[in-house]
Order: sequence, then structure tokens, then C-alpha cells
Amino acid sequence: PTGRILSGDAYPLTPNPHPATDSERAALMADPVFGKVFTDHMARATWSGGMWSDRGVMPLEPIPMHPGAAVLHYAQQVFEGLKAYRHPDGSLQLFRPAMNAERMIDSALRLAMPPLPVDDFLAAVAALVQADAQWVPQQEGGSLYLRPYLMATETSLLVQPSDTYEFVVTASPVGAYMGGGGGVSIWVSRGFHRANEGGTGDAKTGGNYAASMLPQQLAKENGCSQVLFLDAKEDRYVEELGGMNLMVVFGDGSVATPRLTGTILPGITRDSVMTLLADAGRPVRERDIELEEIREGVASGAIAEVFACGTAAVVTPIGELKSDDFALTVGDGEAGPVATWVKKELTDIQYGRAEDPYGWMVRV
Ligand code: PMP
Repeated sequence: PTGRILSGDAYPLTPNPHPATDSERAALMADPVFGKVFTDHMARATWSGGMWSDRGVMPLEPIPMHPGAAVLHYAQQVFEGLKAYRHPDGSLQLFRPAMNAERMIDSALRLAMPPLPVDDFLAAVAALVQADAQWVPQQEGGSLYLRPYLMATETSLLVQPSDTYEFVVTASPVGAYMGGGGGVSIWVSRGFHRANEGGTGDAKTGGNYAASMLPQQLAKENGCSQVLFLDAKEDRYVEELGGMNLMVVFGDGSVATPRLTGTILPGITRDSVMTLLADAGRPVRERDIELEEIREGVASGAIAEVFACGTAAVVTPIGELKSDDFALTVGDGEAGPVATWVKKELTDIQYGRAEDPYGWMVRV
């Protein structure tokens, strides 16, 4: 096995005395529903008295909380999502984990929370993956989804930053997030927005996702699996999906993605896809993209492909765009060549089937 090795030493392990048996684990990992199966352990650290302490990996268990804990009332919380992959040589590898650590710092600062240093984040994640190594799936498309988060735990109904916080990391074996190789249907949300200028759209905080639930429900009712949000100011420019960034491929081969305006999450997959495409001679333009431009382009064929990208769903081709007043099939409704190519390039690196020229993978 090659690559850098992350140490989890800062998070000492208290082993679970009752871990899942081999057969229980095999049953849970056979076809896990995304985010419903959890491993035997979790990592934790506590912020109190102005410092992080009590670092460790311990048995997964409920976290007792006072009913007046600040996070339950004012949602002072931020989170991350990243994956560990099993490589053919047996090593376990994380994809660009320092970017998640840095994004959690940015999110924490926006929510007036104490940032967790990058090395601390990496050590917690590494220690948890080492403790639960047997939970990292072998099968094609499988991975261990890691969910680090910070939450305000002070008992206080005052609307002010908490003076105590918990940092927690859980791990969940997952398969492919969205089934099938074909395109998914996307509902374009009119009138509902997830983020506004000066708000928290570029922070990964629970409240953004709470705001997306009702439009997401409308999408489901209209036969779509995800929502595409428009900007809140003019209801005119496409921004991102509920949990993924958006890429548009034109007939001339050029690619565009909405620029980071502060209302969009700076996706790590987005950044990786842009790097892969740029190095293949297709620089991705970050710019404003009007919904109208997409509607006309898809209808005329000037737009060849639309796809979404994110950690959970990797690269997901969009086959159909719908809203109250239109329904459009993108291309032939199936995965296009650019999405297919970029998905293969990305997953070949993530799963260790190809060289990693960027040094994106970090071994634990
Ligand atoms: N946008 C939103 C709103 C998200 O929740 C996510 C998932 N973290 C993304 C985009 C994609 O980000 P990433 O590629 O870092 O997973």
C-alpha cells in the first residue's frame, strides 16, 4: 500500500464490548439504505472552557442532552460528509479529507462556533475508520460514509452562541446513492429557496437542509428525486440541488457551472470534477446560468448534458427537468458521455483503480 498515512492516535479507542457479529454486520452491509446503518463506534471531542478535550473513539451510543440544549432550539450546528474507500491492495483511503476539515472550519465560523483544527478533524476520522475497518464495504460502488458534525450543547434558551459544543463523527456503510445509470428527474423549485445573500447557503449547516424539506417533498410529489434551487433574489439563475452541485455541458463541448456566490455550497466533488475536466482540455466556466438558458438550450439541443455532483451521489446524470410550467428531457434522457467519462475518472481514483496524480487520496 502506498500514500500518506493519517494517524488517529489523538483519539484513543475504547472498544465496543458488544460489536456486531460477523453475520450481523454482513446482513447490515448487504444492501444498506443510505445513512440508516451505523458502525460500532463513534468519535467524539468536547469544547468547554475555551478548548477541545476528551477526544476519543467509543462505542456508538445515544447522546444524552438537556431538553434546553441550544442546538435543539436554534440549530447552531454544522456538519460534513466524506467517504472512506477500500482499495485493491486492502488499504483504506479517504478522498481529500482536508477539504472537508477546512470547509467545516468555514461553516463553524459562519455559525459563531469554535472551529476544530484540520489535524484534529483528520485524526478523529482516521481513528474511527481504523476502529471500524471491517465496516468499509468491498463491493463495487460501496464505501464508508463519514458524518462529522459540531453542535451547541449549552443549556440555554438565549439566542447567543453556546459556550459548550460536541464534535461527533459517525460512520455508515453505503452503496450507490441513486440507483441506475440512467438520468434522474429534477424538480425546479419556484418560489422556495434554500439560501439568500448574506445567509448561510455556503455553510454546511442543518438549517439549510431544513429549509429544503418542503420543496424536496414537492419534488417527490411530482415524480422527481431532487430539487434544483434558483437564486432567491430574482428566481432566475440556477444555483444547486438539495445536496449536489450542477454542471451543464454544451453541444460544443464546453462546460459551465454556477459560480460560488455565497449562496452555494463549495462542493469538493465540484472542485474535483472541474480539475479533471480542465486537465482533459475542457476548462469549466464558473458563471451565472439562467434557468431560461438551460430551458432553451435543452429544447434546441445546444445543451447536450446536465449532471449533478456530490460526495453521496458522486456524478448523477440529469435526464429530465420539470417544473409547474415545463417538462424537458435532457438529450436522450440517459447518461451523456461527459458525465460518464468524469464519473469513471473520479471513481477510478477514489477506488484505487487508477493512478492518483493529484494526491487526493489519503491512507488511514
Ligand atoms: N451542495 C449541497 C447543498 C450539499 O449538501 C452537498 C453535499 N455536501 C454538495 C453541494 C456537494 O458537496 P461535496 O461534493 O463536497 O459533497
